[in-house]
Amino acid sequence: MKAAVFNGPKQPLEIKEVPTPKPGPGEILVKVAACGVCHTDLHYIDHSVPTFKPPPMILGHEASGTVAELGAGVTKWKVGDQVLLPAVLSCGICRQCRLGRENICDDMKMFGNHIDGAYAEYVLAPAKDALTVPPGVPLVEGSIIADAVSTPFHAVVNRAQVKPGDWVAVFGCGGVGINCVQVAAAVGASVIAIDALPEKLELAKKLGAQEVINPADAGGRIDKAVKKLIGDGVDVAFEAIGKPETIAAAFSTIRKGGMCVVIGYTHLPVELPASKIMFFEQGVIGSLGCRPVDYPRIIEMARIGKIKIKELVTARFPLERINDAFDLLRRGDPATLRSVIIP
Ligand SMILES: [Zn+2]
Ligand SMILES: [Zn+2]
Repeated sequence: MKAAVFNGPKQPLEIKEVPTPKPGPGEILVKVAACGVCHTDLHYIDHSVPTFKPPPMILGHEASGTVAELGAGVTKWKVGDQVLLPAVLSCGICRQCRLGRENICDDMKMFGNHIDGAYAEYVLAPAKDALTVPPGVPLVEGSIIADAVSTPFHAVVNRAQVKPGDWVAVFGCGGVGINCVQVAAAVGASVIAIDALPEKLELAKKLGAQEVINPADAGGRIDKAVKKLIGDGVDVAFEAIGKPETIAAAFSTIRKGGMCVVIGYTHLPVELPASKIMFFEQGVIGSLGCRPVDYPRIIEMARIGKIKIKELVTARFPLERINDAFDLLRRGDPATLRSVIIP
């Protein structure tokens, strides 16, 4: 099969023929329909964050496709079934999995990190983890549910437990942040979207944001701009960028008793006022990925259009041009939201 092989950091992916994997017992071989292009991949390629499986290996953790071959003992699926592969696989038996927190499984395996991913014509997956993509959900665009939509869903619904009528601020309207906007709006919250790019703010409005703030117009004081809009502050602020200064800015916008949810990744320390955490009962929590149990509801919301997915896929690249897709991501092109690779 053709694959985009990651040979190590600071070099483009190499398009080459590799052996098509054979499904073992309990596994399925999936013919990839599409795989979303994610910032996480740039951490491996550009920033030398190591993958658990050492290179050469195949990246790509946001995949949909059709079942092409069944391993021994697989009875649930048949060839041709349309499936979504969650970005992360959980073990099902560790303490966190037993507690229902599979997204922080002690033995998690991520596509395109611990195991080969889907920047290839085919990808292997455990049959038990694949999810049905029903008619009505476009298979190509549906791929982005695996990470860009599911991660915000978990953050909004499970971690922040956003309620109808809450005010929510979302810092960063990229692939993950824009879905925070639409999931929070879908569950009945009023959303303030914050981004430096006017194009992203326009889209946030289309996807349900009540208000938007461009930090440049706010003179860098987003907390003041938020308070000017709604009084004291938001119930929940989501940080979907991954910078110490935006995490601190997000924290500064929450009201008494409010919560700041960190979805963006940074390895740097963050300084926050502990006095406010104590005296105003404000909180800071993290959010990682999504639990398997949430996927059927997310897929259903996409099917009935409560969560838009077609609008979010703004570029499609064949596998041969995957390095162009990463260049587009590096440039931070304002018109681009999520690119998918179609092998
Ligand atoms: Zn991702
Ligand atoms: Zn586990």
